[in-house]
Amino acid sequence: LTTADLIEEHRICVCVRKRPLNKKELAMKDLDVLTVPSKDVVMVHEPKQKVDLTRYLENQTFRFDYAFDDSTTNEMVYRFTARPLVETIFERGMATCFAYGQTGSGKTHTMGGDFSGKNQDCSKGIYALAARDVFLMLKKPNYKKLDLQVHATFFEIYSGKVFDLLNRKTKLRVLEDGKQQVQVVGLQEKDVKSGQQLQNLRADISQRPLISQPRRFQIILRRKGKMHGKFSLIDLAGNERGADTSSADRQTRLEGAEINKSLLALKECIRALGRNKPHTPFRASKLTQVLRDSFIGENSRTCMIATISPGMTSCENTLNTLRYANRVKEF
Ligand code: ADP
Ligand code: MG
Repeated sequence: LTTADLIEEHRICVCVRKRPLNKKELAMKDLDVLTVPSKDVVMVHEPKQKVDLTRYLENQTFRFDYAFDDSTTNEMVYRFTARPLVETIFERGMATCFAYGQTGSGKTHTMGGDFSGKNQDCSKGIYALAARDVFLMLKKPNYKKLDLQVHATFFEIYSGKVFDLLNRKTKLRVLEDGKQQVQVVGLQEKDVKSGQQLQNLRADISQRPLISQPRRFQIILRRKGKMHGKFSLIDLAGNERGADTSSADRQTRLEGAEINKSLLALKECIRALGRNKPHTPFRASKLTQVLRDSFIGENSRTCMIATISPGMTSCENTLNTLRYANRVKEF
């Protein structure tokens, strides 16, 4: 291992999570085309046909930092992905955890968990698990003496505009100052005293009209008002929507183009972070601009969880997701 390898290893973690076939897929007798033969490999076995109609499987192998099979719990995924990033923000770092994948592949299940109120305990997502551990860490003597305050923000980005979910979905401006610091002007930070209070806040937001699940959430640690560390947790838009540029509906087309732009920019920004490059193309989209301070700096770390559907009917999207995730780590 060279120093560059070590930096890369510590700064960027890319993993993949397969979900089980769902009821709908089982009912239509969809085939499971994914296997996870070891803890860091996922294979796609795509059924194909030759011209003479003989059938065969085209096998493709992808390697990541971790590959989680369909029996893996949220708690396990969390332990290998976001858990180390909780440490990062206590050590004055910036951390980001993304869920990336096709609609229906398990991004919200992974990040947000089930918020129907039915199974809160057995299906807590990464938002809740990270919040729990932040409050546990605060009690450790080393951190207790720092007297850190925990703040939370919830926002959305639609069509290149930022909306504050803690403040009646107010549209906010993003400004860059002379020192190239990016500010989302007026974004409300709620101070929170416990993991439960944070959960309640989120449940509360989810119950408001027009908001299903808050998809962007930040935990900010402050010491005497000054930023100590920041953890951004992001449930990205379905990546197949980025290809939706020929829809008859203008709004859908524009939204698709914006999603495509932000996912490309995101990939380049994470790659730049891994290469330790000073020039990060964060201005290319609102998402990356808002996350600018997480893509620079000595102590920035990122984890991407690529979620994939096992069905043969999702094969093309699954391969796109795996290729994208691969590129994020390829130097
Ligand atoms: P996305 O947010 O990517 O569109 P969801 O997280 O909403 O997808 O998942 C779609 C459906 O699949 C939901 O009903 C969810 O509960 C279920 N699901 C997703 N991942 C898993 C998993 N790992 N185990 C069990 N069910 C899952
Ligand atoms: Mg979702």
